[in-house]
Amino acid sequence: KPILVWIRRDLRLTDHAALSKAAGMGRPVIPVFIRDHTVDALGAAPKWRLGLGLAVYADRLAAMGSALVLRAGPAREVLERLLDETGADTVYWQRAYDPDSVERDTAVKDALRARGVEAQSFAGHLLFEPWTVETRQGGYYKVYSPYWRAVQHRGVARSLSAPAELSAPHTWPTSERLDDWQLGAQMRRGAAVAAPYQQVGEQAAQDRLASFARDAIADYRDGRNMVATDGCSMLSENLSLGEISPAQCWHAGRRAMQAGKDGAEPWVKELVWRDFAWHLLWHTPHIADRSWRAGWQTFPWNEDERTAEVIAWKRGRTGIPFVDAALREMYVTGRMHNRARMIVASYLTKHLMCHWKIGMDWFEQCLTDWDPASNALGWQWSAGSGPDASPYFRVFNPITQREKFDPDGAYVTRWIAEGQTDPPGTALGYFQAIPKRWAMTPQDAYPDPVVTAEAGRKAALDAYQNRDF
Ligand code: FAD
Repeated sequence: KPILVWIRRDLRLTDHAALSKAAGMGRPVIPVFIRDHTVDALGAAPKWRLGLGLAVYADRLAAMGSALVLRAGPAREVLERLLDETGADTVYWQRAYDPDSVERDTAVKDALRARGVEAQSFAGHLLFEPWTVETRQGGYYKVYSPYWRAVQHRGVARSLSAPAELSAPHTWPTSERLDDWQLGAQMRRGAAVAAPYQQVGEQAAQDRLASFARDAIADYRDGRNMVATDGCSMLSENLSLGEISPAQCWHAGRRAMQAGKDGAEPWVKELVWRDFAWHLLWHTPHIADRSWRAGWQTFPWNEDERTAEVIAWKRGRTGIPFVDAALREMYVTGRMHNRARMIVASYLTKHLMCHWKIGMDWFEQCLTDWDPASNALGWQWSAGSGPDASPYFRVFNPITQREKFDPDGAYVTRWIAEGQTDPPGTALGYFQAIPKRWAMTPQDAYPDPVVTAEAGRKAALDAYQNRDF
């Protein structure tokens, strides 16, 4: 009898416990991807990026004589129909940890087991299962440093080889067509300008890891902060869709540490931040919904998305060059440098006094590396409302940050065309991506600041006076 392997955000063949287990059973394997409500709910850019990833993954499976069966509908119904159609009696998948997926997967597992189906989930999206990292008192960690100390010497298993073979069933169940799903429909700028910035699929991810570990990891300690250069791995895009496993990254990082490369430990620590974010989302799912610290839940943020300030922020028209460059970079490429994420988040939540959820939701629409845990934690960290957050009274100054992390202005010049005679954006094609009404061509005037660095800082600090956070 065939085995169904339910593929989700794990578009790889190596270090894929569910596929390996299925392949090792010597029975036909049917990989299936389901477009259910969790896929339909994705933001424009991550949904588009998922479509790119699925296309490459389907080709990869086809090249080894297998296939990716695509079906749309509620997961449980789709799986039950496929079990009936194929005669399969087993379903395997890799675990997900966000509240929506957990609820769905629990219901699916119960329903399948009630039918006598073997339904089993496997680890792989994280380095450490969230319930396996406990404080001495038996609780979860709320602060990163002790979390790091608790896990840094743990063993992390991974398998580098892909299954040699995935036996095909006698007859393949019918599959819907990926093109018909139109996963890129809300991302019209995707094919035109964002596509060259994506490195899609398992092979691209492995190449990225190899070249980063060879060329850049040694200098990561400083290199990671320079916004105009490639000092980071850019693997978040691939990790988000499981095109590479965190365990594979962890081992590459540890090898670099053993080889004495200075930047390797800080890089592994960043990778562990990703796990820590999932640890928190698992134990406190409300981290993506409301301020983690109670004192912030009554803070009078602006929560109206339609204000001129919010619109200017989203469009990269705040009049603060570093902030605007970063927001334009994200809109055009689907990426934003980590340092820049902190600056734009600080500006929105502190200078403009807007709720962090407005920014979190915009990132969810625009980032091709969107990850619900890191996004929620990143926003709450920046706003000062989260666990282990940046101190709330620390207001990043976007002018001095620019001087430090974009000293020759290359980043700002790349993304702010106004007033330039031959801006690099012309060659990069980004004017095609940005709607004309956003007025960002070289002929447009660059706006005055919505709120200056000094005035915003003062207003924020005044608003924090006499509050109990
Ligand atoms: P590298 O510097 O090469 O780091 C290696 C890996 O470590 C990354 O791929 C990522 O998986 C992990 N990592 C690095 N920094 C962090 C961090 N601060 N928190 C958690 N994990 C980290 N990351 C996402 O993947 N998706 C998001 O939606 C996301 N939203 C964010 C929102 C805000 C407001 C902030 C401040 C940060 C956010 N981050 C998010 C974290 C971080 O910005 C990105 O992971 C990083 O920029 C990815 O680039 P890289 O792959 O080159 O990272």
